[in-house]
Amino acid sequence: MNQSLDNKTLKQMDRDHYLHPFSNLTEMKETGSRIIERAEGVYLYDSEGTKTLDGFAGLWCVNIGYGRDELADVAAEQMKQLPYYNSFFGTTNPPAAELAALIKDVTPEGFNHVFFTGSGSESNDTVVRMVRRYWQCQEQPSKKYIIGRHNAYHGSTIAGASLGGMGYMHKQDEGLPMQFVDHIEQPYWFAEGGDLSPEEFGLQRAQKLEEKILELGAENVAAFIGEPLQGAGGVIIPPSTYWPEIQRICNQYDILLVSDEVICGFGRTGQWFGCQHFGYTPDLMSVAKGMTSGYLPMGGVIVGDKVANVLVEKGGDFNHGFTYSGHPASAAVAVANIKIIRDEELVEKAANDTGKYFREQLATFADHPVVGEVRSIGLVAAIELCANKETREFFPNQGDTGSLCRNFALQNGLVLRATADTMLFSPPLTISREEIDELIAITKQSLDFVAEHYGMSNG
Ligand SMILES: *Cc1c(COP(=O)(O)O)cnc(C)c1O
Repeated sequence: MNQSLDNKTLKQMDRDHYLHPFSNLTEMKETGSRIIERAEGVYLYDSEGTKTLDGFAGLWCVNIGYGRDELADVAAEQMKQLPYYNSFFGTTNPPAAELAALIKDVTPEGFNHVFFTGSGSESNDTVVRMVRRYWQCQEQPSKKYIIGRHNAYHGSTIAGASLGGMGYMHKQDEGLPMQFVDHIEQPYWFAEGGDLSPEEFGLQRAQKLEEKILELGAENVAAFIGEPLQGAGGVIIPPSTYWPEIQRICNQYDILLVSDEVICGFGRTGQWFGCQHFGYTPDLMSVAKGMTSGYLPMGGVIVGDKVANVLVEKGGDFNHGFTYSGHPASAAVAVANIKIIRDEELVEKAANDTGKYFREQLATFADHPVVGEVRSIGLVAAIELCANKETREFFPNQGDTGSLCRNFALQNGLVLRATADTMLFSPPLTISREEIDELIAITKQSLDFVAEHYGMSNG
């Protein structure tokens, strides 16, 4: 693509006119932005010509890596054939129909329907509309509450931000969270587990759901929503006891179970969906991100038979949808993306091949003086930076150390993310062993740098 404007002009335009998402708008007026110009495989190239390994797959989404011409080609072809038509009022388009059937093929048994959206946030908004409509059709309209968790992320629309449990988002809007949402504590053993074993703690945190249901009255609770592992919250991997107990409680009290698979879906955990890794069966799954590997925006709610059958048999009109639901170009890209994930066995690779290698290499950092815990599944991982391994005590001014580590890594050629002092990894599922070696080497340098900063010897 030809670039007609020089970088200095672009930076100035950005600084003067672009209000960035989840950014410090005050600081950015000073610092400006880094322009990412192109990408290939797992590497990003910025306008200064700097090459950086993307250890984060964009924003947890570029599962098949950058530069896959197949996706660009199907998008171009589809745009020439039919760039847009809506799916309202009894119409569809070929890629959307094909995608719906393909999703059925890659999901666990009992998931035969999908509702298309434009993003993960829209998917979770749809979840709210859909579960409440379901209970209305079941003649239990009082079942309206949705229970989420503190430090969960479910998107940034009003409903998404409400379902999520991010204090820093709620703090900026007195209307959040909306009244129909309540939250329970999270299964974050490293930070909150105290003296309990992870298994005891997982059970205890799952039972918070039962307490909350009893407090609200089961006749008032529509659903529980959770990410299989909390992504933005810090790749928080719940203890093995957690999800089976959540499942038991949802079944016992007749509460729908919603799995927010926006990060875990389409291979991230070494299974097609995160719920398969953790061994539970949700009623609904929100998806986005890896569904198109981010090449075009698209999301969806994958609906299990229990809910879909009621909506289809009893529901009649469902007065909900988006202009871009089932967008033909996005759907064509999603089809091509899912076929690549399937045919190149990327899910299998994340579980047993390169994913296994990645997890083994990362695990070697458990002994590093500034590392409290390394946890990983498939090709997603976290390293907890802490001042004392034994007591799991964080460094003072939580967040500073994570930023220090992340900035060092970036200066040395690796994009990582830090949530407080937790370093997060989520590379493209296509990452090779050599590229993993590079990611590990820069991570090691970054950890050593943190140790040096605090005068903690690396012995
Ligand atoms: C990113 C994310 C969302 C929101 O998706 P958007 O496409 O940004 O709206 C929802 N849930 C989870 C778990 C996410 O990681």
